[in-house]
Amino acid sequence: MHMIELNDIFKTYLVGDNVVHALRGVSLKIGQGEFVAIMGPSGSGKSTLMHILGLLDIPTSGSYKLNGREVSELEENALAKLRNETIGFVFQQYNLLARTSARDNVRLPLIYSFASDDTVKAEARLREVGLSDRIHHKPNELSGGQQQRVAIARALVNRPGIIFADEPTGNLDSSSEREIMDIFTKLNQEGITIIIVTHEAEIAQYARRVIRIRDGKIQSDESKDLISKKESNPSAQSPENETQSSFKNFLHFKTRELTSHITQALRALLANKVRSGLSMLGILIGVASVIAMMALGSGAQESIKQQLSSLGSNVLTLRPGSQRSQGVAMESGAVTRLTLEDAQDIKQSVANISGVAPSVRGRGQAVYGNKNWSTQIVGTTSDYSAIRASNPAVGRFFTDDEGRQRSRIAVIGMTVVKELFQEKNPIGEVMKVNKVNFLVIGVLPEKGSTPFMDQDDMIIIPIQTAMRRLLGKDFVDSIDIQVNDESKMDYAEDAVSQLMIKRHHVRGDPDSSFQIRNMADIQEAVSSTSRILSLLLASIASISLLVGGIGIMNIMLVSVTERTREIGLRKALGATKGSILEQFLIEAVIVSLIGGSFGILLGWSIAGSLSYFAGWMMIVSPTSVIMAVFFSAGTGVAFGLWPAQKASRLHPIEALRYE
Ligand code: ADP
Repeated sequence: MHMIELNDIFKTYLVGDNVVHALRGVSLKIGQGEFVAIMGPSGSGKSTLMHILGLLDIPTSGSYKLNGREVSELEENALAKLRNETIGFVFQQYNLLARTSARDNVRLPLIYSFASDDTVKAEARLREVGLSDRIHHKPNELSGGQQQRVAIARALVNRPGIIFADEPTGNLDSSSEREIMDIFTKLNQEGITIIIVTHEAEIAQYARRVIRIRDGKIQSDESKDLISKKESNPSAQSPENETQSSFKNFLHFKTRELTSHITQALRALLANKVRSGLSMLGILIGVASVIAMMALGSGAQESIKQQLSSLGSNVLTLRPGSQRSQGVAMESGAVTRLTLEDAQDIKQSVANISGVAPSVRGRGQAVYGNKNWSTQIVGTTSDYSAIRASNPAVGRFFTDDEGRQRSRIAVIGMTVVKELFQEKNPIGEVMKVNKVNFLVIGVLPEKGSTPFMDQDDMIIIPIQTAMRRLLGKDFVDSIDIQVNDESKMDYAEDAVSQLMIKRHHVRGDPDSSFQIRNMADIQEAVSSTSRILSLLLASIASISLLVGGIGIMNIMLVSVTERTREIGLRKALGATKGSILEQFLIEAVIVSLIGGSFGILLGWSIAGSLSYFAGWMMIVSPTSVIMAVFFSAGTGVAFGLWPAQKASRLHPIEALRYE
């Protein structure tokens, strides 16, 4: 049985409407341990023949048996495995990976095989080709001859049975040429089959058999030694048989492949720092804004919760009819209008009530000296300070007597203090609110703010003063009712409801004329609103994540095109489709993960500085960080998939020939 048996091989190419017959019926047998030169003029079909022999291309018709196996019956992955284990390639252009040491270049085929002992083997092969002192050199630090020797070491690393060399000395001077050919001769003596394509007669001299082809046909086939070499090094006949398909071996192989893909990806990224940085930017901004927006959202939610809980869970709030919430009163006649007397009556006639604070709200313009500030005006009674945890930090709250006298006195929040009085003590000062003079008698305790509302931005004045002198309101906006025992909430709610029905002669559904809410209801309503709000913010931010993903896809497509030759080389060395796909996917995921990590840091610092400088409550939750990592990796996979698939589908020969 011959190692190689070609029978009536045809290869035709279609170029537009033209049919090019590159090979027309080539039949050929090559035995183990031969040294063959394939010669012929340019365009005669030498390279085509070699690509078919090297399993890089498939014939249009005819049969090719390699070691007795019909090659056309093998599927893609099996071909890749054969290329990896039985065949070594040496190309005219060396095709070494740039920015990669000689040793790692030699190791390349091992990534795609189950064989072990990478570095040791790689270094041993480099020694064999006389490069023991160039192990850590990169291709640009080596001469042409040395680069070709690295390429030979790479072809040898899996101890293949055959080496194909396509014009291996085409780019070299004559002394390097001799070195290279001596190495081939030595390898052939060790039993490796060598097949060289060349158009130089001197090179063909080294071979023991010369096959000349012309116009796609064999013209002559001359052997120098009549006895074909039967005795050969058994170790070279079959690849080193380490392919025990045990699970452990497989795991080992997989981790090695993965590590190699990761280092390759990092190398590729480092080689194009600016480009990689720019493509990361999109993801970075996307993740940062998602993180910051979510921190803002959950901070707001939390601070609203805190504000509400400072209100106490034992407070009921009475408001006029529920239609208000729909904007328009549907049965306006039926909507109850609350009065100060309602508040008084509730306090007097409902049991278990410890405080009642009616309130009106409006906007007002406060002026002090040359300072001017628009703020919220709250008119209420003295019970408010206890119900809303608003006992002044400095000064005092007003009394109900002062309210009845419609005194022009005010308790102000910290924001108002800062805006109007700055460093000055506001107690005892007179400011104007909507052109009416007010004496400041107290400062509210600081409660903090969110971007949606500032709890410290308000002026509290007696309700009678507010209604009659400032806001011109005849009715109360709402009444806070504090129940002295939480277990009596339901009872109190009922009692207030009954009282209101009686006082306002409500007929029909009381829910439409007034509503009583307890804290749990309010908290629920507020937190669902803020949840929707933060979701909205996050989804707006995630649009930039999408844009970032498209950026990555763009860069990956460029990268695949740029590295077409590398992909062709990897396929020639035995990389399967899946392996190439994995390599480029990993690269895309690494880009987006790095971008994402910086995005998390940036988002975090944005959140931190907003809470530091603006005083907003920001919460970066672990969930949002995990989600950000997950999303950026996902973006990498989603947007890297197409370029990676494009890479993996490349035809080895077309890729290798790509200019
Ligand atoms: P050689 O290596 O002897 O110079 P090739 O094997 O490269 O010759 O080419 C043989 C013939 O096939 C040439 O006429 C060439 O133009 C044609 N050919 C080779 N590859 C292709 C291809 N991919 N598409 C179309 N024609 C091709």
